[in-house]
Amino acid sequence: MAIKKNQVVVLHYKLQEENPDGELVESTFESEPLEFIYGIGQMIPAFEGNLEQKNEGDDFAFAIEAEEAYGLYDEQAIANIPMSEFIVDGKVDPESIELGRSLGLQDAQGNSYQGIIVETDEESIKVDFNHPMAGIDLYFTGKIISIREATDSELDHGHVHE
Ligand SMILES: [Zn+2]
Repeated sequence: MAIKKNQVVVLHYKLQEENPDGELVESTFESEPLEFIYGIGQMIPAFEGNLEQKNEGDDFAFAIEAEEAYGLYDEQAIANIPMSEFIVDGKVDPESIELGRSLGLQDAQGNSYQGIIVETDEESIKVDFNHPMAGIDLYFTGKIISIREATDSELDHGHVHE
């Protein structure tokens, strides 16, 4: 019986960058499997699409292009923030502008964005607001452990219960 909408899918997966030889991003095989409710928007649509005809016990292997995963890398999503914004009590704390540090910003509408400091000079800080996986094709392999109907309360809450 193949996976249908509103079913709880339990699976193990390994995610690599680009292809079967790509860098390992994450793997559930040594830990708890992933559990999600199929077809309610918990997962990337292309991920679910590739599992459509799968049954319990099936293995899977597929690639998802960056634009269907975390999006293409957007050069416009790099912001230059004046160093003056980082001045607290008359000086800049070096720790607050360390390369690789993650930074949360809010715009005038109250939307918040998470970025990574990628460059600094005397006058400004460059912050990359792209998703860390933006521009990277994803390559998944794994195995479907089990499939079952979601309970009413799981569907109400939009997540799997123990
Ligand atoms: Zn719940």
